[in-house]
Amino acid sequence: MKTIGLLGGMSWESTVLYYQLLNEGVRDKLGGLHSAKILMHSVDFAEIEQFQVNGQWDAAGEKLAAAALGLEQTGADMILICTNLMHKIAPTIEAQIKVPLLHIADAAGRAIKGQGLKKIGLLGARYTMEEDFYRQRLLDNFDLDVIIPAAEDREYIHQTIFRELCQGKFTEESRKNYLDIMTKLHQQGAQGVILGCTEIPLLVRQEDTDLPLFNTAALHAKFALESAFMTE
Ligand code: GLU
Repeated sequence: MKTIGLLGGMSWESTVLYYQLLNEGVRDKLGGLHSAKILMHSVDFAEIEQFQVNGQWDAAGEKLAAAALGLEQTGADMILICTNLMHKIAPTIEAQIKVPLLHIADAAGRAIKGQGLKKIGLLGARYTMEEDFYRQRLLDNFDLDVIIPAAEDREYIHQTIFRELCQGKFTEESRKNYLDIMTKLHQQGAQGVILGCTEIPLLVRQEDTDLPLFNTAALHAKFALESAFMTE
């Protein structure tokens, strides 16, 4: 079993999910007292959010790349950035490490393709929904047609991620609003929705809707487990 390196704390609410899912996955596979081999570097999310707000993506990239390198040097066989948004600076990290970086959009893309879907809605932080680093990868690697909510709904999703979900606040009102936005995406042809922010699965669950949901935190953890047990 390989050692999984996690860049966590963005936010820690969802890093908890990764830790639990990875350990459950190893227990299910090996049984007994087995648990996942994990190295984690968990950041102060307030510092990362400041970089985002100030547009200091290079500084954010350097900080996370240094953390990833530290994980590699202490024995991580692969690196996961435990957030969708910070994959914006994935190339900076990849340039500085030798072990593979398992990209969260690939984890989502594989699952969506596996279900034979073609047109998919995307919810996430503003940058994840609006910029190319995530959507273009889904198009290039998986031939997926990704659609996003209208501007007003994107703003609402972005604000609730940072003001509520990343601060552990999960309300009935926000759940209902997220589900309404998903319904609009469905009406525009989306066959499913990517929960492209790792905290959204803590608010909206598959049992809340008939629309197939793609929980990126869970799919990313599954991707890591497969890699951890892969023999070269
Ligand atoms: N966890 C969120 C995501 O998956 C957003 C937090 C962040 O990285 O800024 O995109």
